Amino acid sequence: MNFRINYLKVLVEQIHSTTIATIGSDGYPQTRIIDMMLYDENGIYFITAKGKTFYEQLMQQKFVALSATKDKMSISLRGRIKNIGTEKLNEIFETNTYMQKIYPDDTRSAIEVFCLYEAQGEYFDISSPSHIVRDTIVIGTPAIQKRGYYVGSGCIGCKLCYSVCPQKCIDILQKPVVIDQNHCLHCGRCAEVCPKQIIEKRG
Ligand code: SF4
Ligand code: SF4
Repeated sequence: MNFRINYLKVLVEQIHSTTIATIGSDGYPQTRIIDMMLYDENGIYFITAKGKTFYEQLMQQKFVALSATKDKMSISLRGRIKNIGTEKLNEIFETNTYMQKIYPDDTRSAIEVFCLYEAQGEYFDISSPSHIVRDTIVIGTPAIQKRGYYVGSGCIGCKLCYSVCPQKCIDILQKPVVIDQNHCLHCGRCAEVCPKQIIEKRG
């Protein structure tokens, strides 16, 4: 299964509405709700009107961060965007028919399409609270930043890290012990108690 496509499908078809951040002219972050309209192997597509401040910021900054949540699962992405003009606009209106009422007839000419084409982010699911799931999402070929906690060399197998881990997501049958990245909360409790101070935070 292609997990990346799967997560983009979840974002577009199940969650749909996201909070997108750009930087305002005052230098501080600004957010607004933007629907994710389409996805394909090239990325994820959203639209805005050319008269909006958001449009100007997208054209200048060419970078966004977005987050969205539904039913205890969330997706966050940050990365590069590009304006593709009216390419895919008709397809977006056919797929998302409510847009035909917001911008009836030829008023859709006010709108242009943007593609998030190079991004890194995360899927996070707490629907099973004592067994959370997280995964990395990658669009395109960004410089990948590893995040989370990793066990370095010198582990003495004392299992103290496991004893304080809220998710019990550390494999203590191995030495050095191994953190299961897909179930780790990034809470840092293991790193605090390790007597050898070999649990490293990345990202
Ligand atoms: S960071 Fe938290 S959840 Fe992750 S392994 Fe350490 S204690 Fe467990
Ligand atoms: S607390 Fe540190 S030394 Fe002890 S098992 Fe965990 S990683 Fe190894």
